[in-house]
Amino acid sequence: MKTIGIIGGGQLGRMLAMAAARLNFRTVILEPQPDCPAAQAANAQIVSAYDDSRGLDELARTADLITYEFENVPVAAAERLAASRPVFPPPKALEVAQDRLVEKRFINGCGIATAGFHAVDSQADLEAALADFDGSGVLKTRRLGYDGKGQRVFRSGKDDPSGAFAALGGVPLILESFVAFEREISIIAARSPDGATACFDPAENVHRNGILHTSTVPASVPASTAEAARKAAAAILEALGYVGVIGVEFFVLADGSVVANEIAPRVHNSGHWTEAACVVSQFEQHIRAIAGLPLGDASRHSDCVMQNLIGDEIAELPALLGEPNVLVHLYGKAEARAGRKMGHFTRLS
Ligand code: AMP
Repeated sequence: MKTIGIIGGGQLGRMLAMAAARLNFRTVILEPQPDCPAAQAANAQIVSAYDDSRGLDELARTADLITYEFENVPVAAAERLAASRPVFPPPKALEVAQDRLVEKRFINGCGIATAGFHAVDSQADLEAALADFDGSGVLKTRRLGYDGKGQRVFRSGKDDPSGAFAALGGVPLILESFVAFEREISIIAARSPDGATACFDPAENVHRNGILHTSTVPASVPASTAEAARKAAAAILEALGYVGVIGVEFFVLADGSVVANEIAPRVHNSGHWTEAACVVSQFEQHIRAIAGLPLGDASRHSDCVMQNLIGDEIAELPALLGEPNVLVHLYGKAEARAGRKMGHFTRLS
């Protein structure tokens, strides 16, 4: 039996481990936090920092191939592992996804539209960039932002940028032009080592407090919009020589055109609906892709809405378990802290 190493111990790693087990793979998780959500569903855990060479070498000894469940895996760690084991998705995907400026340039290089953007390395840069966007825009840290953290929105004539560069930590930033989108959608797509691709239907995503709240499928977009998003995702997979599942988030404009927001080189929260509404979920699809197995059919047998259970929303559990056509998935987290993803459910319709 082959062993898949997974860097990162959160719920995405947990769901990958569960999918891997069904296809006769063992899994080992590399994660500093003992008894993490992923380790509860895996065969073993290496308790180690992501950049600790001893932990990484043990992972390389134990696993036949290696993947990851979050995009901030140190690139040097992925490259160290790649010297002795296949690492999928390729470390290049991490490099692109870890820095919003590199990511935007890469996406544009694939012929795909993004928001306008300027690198911001000082307060003066910020003021010049805002002037170029008529005083409005979204200021983001280039690295390590997630769920709306490390961001600030400026509306023309309303928000004063004074001190904003320092307030975001004096780190490299990017100012994006404000996209007046009608809705947000995402595509979950997979590519196998032989270049075959499969793409799930786009989901329409609604965020609350910067955290994904619901993903609804089908998205209320015309077929041409869905097709444009699929094509963009396929171009990104190709350009990265990608292997595995990727998530690509888009803004949809009033004219139906799409603007790419960001890429996640991993399984994605907005793809959790696939475990209930498709025969092969995004998690199994990822395991198939990295293991060189045939990709599964990505078509959908039901319409559905996936909703995250954040913090004490976990109290809705008994009612959800009593409902027909609802699949609940919990993440094994002991404490229901505010803003923490505790689980999700998908309601088929
Ligand atoms: P992100 O961390 O880039 O996914 O941004 C989080 C959320 O902020 C997105 O899902 C959008 O709702 C909003 N947002 C981000 N960038 C922009 C932008 N350039 N224009 C308008 N809204 C944005």
